[in-house]
Amino acid sequence: PPDKDQLGRATWTFLHTAAAYYPVLPSPAQRSQMLALIQALPALYPCSHCAEDFGEKVAENPPDVSSRSGLSRWFCERHNEVNEKLGKEAFDCTKTDERWNEGPKD
Ligand code: FAD
Repeated sequence: PPDKDQLGRATWTFLHTAAAYYPVLPSPAQRSQMLALIQALPALYPCSHCAEDFGEKVAENPPDVSSRSGLSRWFCERHNEVNEKLGKEAFDCTKTDERWNEGPKD
């Protein structure tokens, strides 16, 4: 099976970076494409219990695909839910751009 931690770091890198470079004013097509990407994860993410929990969180918290800042916050909050579940510290969601729009700091 895939290494859950390596897979998680790679996936969060992709998702937070995609949000950090998502349009400030996305077109209707870009919004529906991002929504489709998010909604595909519970079906396709190759850690079945992670995918199942994430799917429940997505259902409880409809993705905000209306803007770069809204999407960045939405992913930050979902990642923080996983951090909490794993006993990790919460990330400060005012710092998503600093972390993900200016290159990796770790
Ligand atoms: P990660 O949590 O991978 O974080 C990588 C970097 O992101 C951090 O170093 C930090 O700079 C930054 N960061 C941290 N929090 C935030 C945030 N809230 N917003 C923005 N940036 C942030 N693992 C499990 O064991 N069980 C699960 O159920 C589980 N579910 C997951 C569901 C999804 C959708 C994904 C993508 C991953 C899941 N993981 C799960 C993996 C888990 O989230 C971590 O990726 C893994 O434990 C490795 O953690 P890490 O401490 O190396 O850093």
